[in-house]
This record gives sequence, C-alpha cells and structure tokens, in this order.
Amino acid sequence: MSEKLEQSLEFNISEDLLDEIQHNIEHIIKTFDVPESNKMEVIRQINYIYSRSKYLSYTDELTGLQNRRSFDSAIEKEFLRAKRYKNKLTVAMFDIDFFKNVNDSYGHQCGDYILQQIASSALQTFRKTDMIFRVGGEEFFVILTETDIKQSAIPLERFRKTIATLGCEYQGEEISVTVSIGACQLTDEYKSVEEFISAIDKNLYLAKNSGRNNTIF
Ligand code: GH3
Ligand code: MG
Ligand code: MG
Repeated sequence: MSEKLEQSLEFNISEDLLDEIQHNIEHIIKTFDVPESNKMEVIRQINYIYSRSKYLSYTDELTGLQNRRSFDSAIEKEFLRAKRYKNKLTVAMFDIDFFKNVNDSYGHQCGDYILQQIASSALQTFRKTDMIFRVGGEEFFVILTETDIKQSAIPLERFRKTIATLGCEYQGEEISVTVSIGACQLTDEYKSVEEFISAIDKNLYLAKNSGRNNTIF
C-alpha cells in the first residue's frame, strides 16, 4: 500500500484532499521559513489538524454518522456516477415515528440515546459500501450503491424490523420506537438530484400516512 493511500485511510479522507493538504503545507513552510530540523514535525501537526477538522465538518457529533453537508456532496457525486456509468443506485430516507413523544415522555437525553442506538443499528445492518447519514433531527438517508430497488428491500426491511423489536433500555425503562422508510431507485425519469430526493421524500410521506413502521418503495 502506498504511503499516500495509507494516510488517506488513516484520516478517512480522499487522496485528492490529501494532495490539497500537502500543497497548503508546502505553502506554509515556504512562507514562514520553518527550520529544516522542525519541518517533519510541522508537516505532521498541520496534516493532523487539517484532516481532523475536515473529518469533523463532515460528521454528526451525536451519532458519529456522516452529516447533512456530507450527504449533499455524496448524493451529487453518486447521482452523476450512476447516470454516467448506468450503475444501479437506490436511496432511502427514514424518519423515527412519533419521536416527539419519546422526548416529551422520557426527556431529551433519552431521545439522544435512542438516536445513537438507531445509528449504531443502521451501521450494523447496511453494507460497508453503503453510506448512512443523519441529515436532521430524527431524519436519516442511506445511499445504497450498486443496488436496485428489489435488492434494497432486503436490508431496508431487515433494518425496519430490527428497530421495531430493538427495545432500547434507558434508566431501567424499555423504550420501543419504529421508523418509516421511503426508497427510490434512480431511473431516467429523474433529471436532477432534487427531483430524485423529492420522490424519495414522497414515499416517506406515504409510509407515514399508511400507518408508520412501514417502507414504501
Ligand atoms: P412523525 O411520526 O410524524 O415523524 O412524528 P415525530 O414526532 O417524529 O415528528 P415531529 O417532526 O413532530 O418531531 C420530531 C421530533 O424530533 C422533535 C424533537 O423533539 C425531536 N428531535 C429532533 N432532533 C433531536 C435531537 O437531536 N435530539 C432529541 N432528543 N430529539 C430530537
Ligand atoms: Mg422528521
Ligand atoms: Mg419523526
């Protein structure tokens, strides 16, 4: 494995970004006339700070999932990639049912704990190549690459059923929640990311209106 690839994996950032960081470091070292004996340490520290900040800017603090910013950039990329190479792409959005009741009955901290449990369940259910994001309060997206709608039904339904039977224990009480899911496969009918997301959102709305704890494909 090349040193660059190793660093890119260690810091969880792309090799392109590493190039950008490297370029900026060289600029700083030139501008501030860092003595030869300190150069390696300065490079190491800037590298760390830069990649750590970048990582944090793409991460949801509560759950450790990728955040809205990360979703916006990933969906754009995957949409274009799937269109160009005619790859299969399915995207799902899920939202916790009646989550306001959980906060009202058990407190906000309990709500936060449940959000973390759901995120961790999602990470265990979906493939490593799928991407999971928390994009708002109790709203999440899953990008399933190389997956058509039929194939997506297996992990999505497994996830929905897992959550319904999860029973999160919080301060001696067992709390159950359910999620509603809307999913769509990318087809030629969607001309923009916005149209595609709006179709997914519509399916989530249908899942909510059909009684919740449901998936609409
Ligand atoms: P629905 O089934 O229609 O989705 O009902 P809901 O109660 O889940 O939806 P609503 O949009 O009315 O409320 C969402 C609630 O999610 C509001 C707020 O109490 C809770 N929430 C949003 N973000 C957070 C968070 O970061 N932590 C906690 N604990 N609760 C949150
Ligand atoms: Mg919501
Ligand atoms: Mg909700």
